[in-house]
Amino acid sequence: LALTLAACSGSGRGGTGGSDSGAAKDGGKGSLIGIAMPTKVDQRWIQDGANVVKELKAAGYKTDLEYADNDIPTQGQQIETMITKGAKVIIIASIDGGALGQQLDDAKAAGVKVIAYDRLLTGDKNVDYYATFDNFKVGVLQANSLLAGLGYLDKDGNKTGKKGPWNVELFAGSPDDNNATFFYNGAMSVLKPLIADGTIKVTSGQTGFSQIAIQGWDPATAKKRMDDLLAKSYSTGSVKLNGVLSPYDGLSDGIISALESGGYKVGDADWPVITGQDAEVASVKQIIAGSQYSTIFKDTRKLAKQAAQMTEALLKGEKPDVNDTKSYDNGKKVVPTYLLPPVVVTKDNYKEQLLDSGYYTESDLK
Ligand code: BGC
Repeated sequence: LALTLAACSGSGRGGTGGSDSGAAKDGGKGSLIGIAMPTKVDQRWIQDGANVVKELKAAGYKTDLEYADNDIPTQGQQIETMITKGAKVIIIASIDGGALGQQLDDAKAAGVKVIAYDRLLTGDKNVDYYATFDNFKVGVLQANSLLAGLGYLDKDGNKTGKKGPWNVELFAGSPDDNNATFFYNGAMSVLKPLIADGTIKVTSGQTGFSQIAIQGWDPATAKKRMDDLLAKSYSTGSVKLNGVLSPYDGLSDGIISALESGGYKVGDADWPVITGQDAEVASVKQIIAGSQYSTIFKDTRKLAKQAAQMTEALLKGEKPDVNDTKSYDNGKKVVPTYLLPPVVVTKDNYKEQLLDSGYYTESDLK
């Protein structure tokens, strides 16, 4: 509260008044841009925040970057403070995409433009643009890489002729994150027919989104669920788990530690295939070491650039570039979106994708 009041008496609402008052030919250089990030627990958001700041500073803007510790009220307060400080655009990677209606309405009233970053803001019409990766495709890639790891597909995505059946368990992300259902639907578009014809056996029978979702993307919750699954469905020794669809590297960590305490050994021929997402340093190391099979690389440098370009266009009074105007209905409007392409990373291509691209250095992965 002290912070809010201090900010209040400092610069007030910046006298923004009308809704397009931020528009200027020079793109409102020198304006303040708010960046609200969810958490520093997931390494990607640290990179996202740093990259967005870098892009905006290079374009001549001031920035206010805040992390909310995965606490929904904290994020709401941070956004209110940004409005109070006179931010002209606020870029938001939400914790709960549907919990910021008040802030979005307040932003609109103050003439502040809002860009949803990576995660859609839902249930409110005051969302101007959305920059993200192709989230459905992420799920498709995760499922395909699971199938490649199991041996059903080869590296080019063609069927090998191996028929399984393979015992697999499925995990999904946080129900309050719009992306989670996109990842799930993408993955299930690939897996459903294979579950139906018996190629993939989900021994627990848990395939519905609400049965497999992990609230808050919490690794410890994923570990607990995997512990329970091992105890309930794989305790006889005759049924071995062959693979796990995991939508995020942090959940993969929890799953891996459950498998290790459940008697599976990294390096053994029957160590399960585990997917992931974000190409976190720790997970890329696990891929190199063999405990995780794949991850999805989403180049946060590109997403940051996209969000910065959208910001500049908005402040110039121009229309930001979008390439999708139908997929992201937030319940109140279809939010114009720019989708970037996600990429599967395994032991075979991590050097080319992550090192040659300069995303990481060799010493990062030591
Ligand atoms: C992001 C993923 C991330 C997950 C957990 C999702 O909204 O798109 O990249 O793995 O949140 O932080």
